[in-house]
Formats: sequence, structure tokens, C-alpha cells
Amino acid sequence: MLLTEIDHFSHSHRLKLMPVEAPYQCDGCKELGFAPCYQCTMCSFHLHEECARAEPNISHKYFKKCKFKFYEENLRGGVRICDACGKDIQGFLYQCSHEKAFDLHPCCAKLKETLTGPGGIKLYLSNKGQLKCLKCQSKKTSNGVKGFSYVSSSGKYCYHVACVKDLIVDNWRRGHFSSITEVNGHLALQNIAVSSQEVALLSGQSSMLRKAKTFCKKALLYIRLVVSAIFGNPTDLIFAILERLLSDN
Ligand SMILES: [Zn+2]
Ligand SMILES: [Zn+2]
Ligand SMILES: [Zn+2]
Ligand SMILES: [Zn+2]
Ligand SMILES: [Zn+2]
Repeated sequence: MLLTEIDHFSHSHRLKLMPVEAPYQCDGCKELGFAPCYQCTMCSFHLHEECARAEPNISHKYFKKCKFKFYEENLRGGVRICDACGKDIQGFLYQCSHEKAFDLHPCCAKLKETLTGPGGIKLYLSNKGQLKCLKCQSKKTSNGVKGFSYVSSSGKYCYHVACVKDLIVDNWRRGHFSSITEVNGHLALQNIAVSSQEVALLSGQSSMLRKAKTFCKKALLYIRLVVSAIFGNPTDLIFAILERLLSDN
């Protein structure tokens, strides 16, 4: 059952589940969100649904031997890195009980296993790190964590959760997404959609160019899926802009 109003230990006022007008930073895990979230109607306070309604204990299929507990903050001290997205943990987390513990942001712990997009395209969550990510061209994330990826069934399209998160967070920090309805950022599409080989193709023959463009278009659809899995909807406007950028090329 979906609770539209809750009391949460982290805030003294009642919180309401509402859509947002602009991307927000969750006051629980400190990560970004675009999806409807629990908000205070009296002050600026936001909690991801996953953070507001975190479960005290969870298990995760990629960490079969682990039992995860929810914590309001990291009690072990030192820098903790999320084993799904490779980013620091700044607030709420799930952590397993092993001495060499795994950590997960609440939203990262709940990433969907299968994403389905327009035309039935699908992406599958993977922790294997066997394929190169199209954005960073490597199997591990930039800080050396294996991390989770989303991979197409053909294996042609693979994106680290970390890399897609970086892309959106960087643009948000630069103020490109001050509001969802006024998105006028200029995301560097080539960086996200195109591998270095494809960039070479873009300057080649026209048949190659067509192929590269098709590849970009598909890549965009896949990235869009990953973004909505990480940050929630609505991201349609961001992608309408991206698509326009692409067709101008
Ligand atoms: Zn959160
Ligand atoms: Zn409040
Ligand atoms: Zn463990
Ligand atoms: Zn994470
Ligand atoms: Zn990557």
C-alpha cells in the first residue's frame, strides 16, 4: 500500500508524497532525485521514497551471503563507498554485517533488475563488470569499484550506474536542471552515447555516419532508461532536449 503521508524519525513535521518541480537532494541519503518524494509542506525537506520507507533489514541477490541493515549514518567511520554506484555514502545506507562490509545507498539497493523502454527495449542490471561501459570505456568505474551496470541483451550497450549518475549530477551541479520544466542544459551527448570508435565513424563516410547515428539514437534510449531507473521519472523533458541536440548533429 502506498502511504501518501508519513511521520519520519528524521524530521519533526509530517511528510507528504508529492511530485517535484525541480530535482532535489534527498535529506536522507543526500543523493539526487527527480521522482515524486516525501516532502515537508512547511520547510524544504525531501526524502526519496526508498529512504523514507527503508526497511530495517534487507537481502540483495548480488550479495547472497550478506544481511543488510539500514543505518541513518555510517557508524564505522571513514569513507564508505556504495558498492552499486561507486559513490561516497553521505547519509542513509544499508550495510552488511561482515567485517569487510558492503554498503549500498537505499536507492541503489532497490535498482530494478530489468528495465523496459519504448519498442520493448530492455536492459538488465549486472554486477559482473565483464563488459566495457560505453561512457568511460572501462569495466570498472572511475574509482576502481566494480559497481553495477545496465546491459542490453546483445551486450552492445552497457552503462555503469556510476557513469550515468555522474552525468546527471554534474549537470545538476552546473545548474543545468534548475527546474524540470526549464531544462535548457547542453549535455555532452557524445560523451554519453558514443564510444570512441563511433566518434571516429561520425567523421567517416555517410553510410558509416548513418550507422553511427542509429547507434547514438539507440544509446540515447538506453541511457534514458538508466536515468529513470536511478533518479526516477519524469525525465522526459531532459531527453526531449537531448534528442534535439542529437538531430542537429
Ligand atoms: Zn535518499
Ligand atoms: Zn518540515
Ligand atoms: Zn557482507
Ligand atoms: Zn549508490
Ligand atoms: Zn562507466
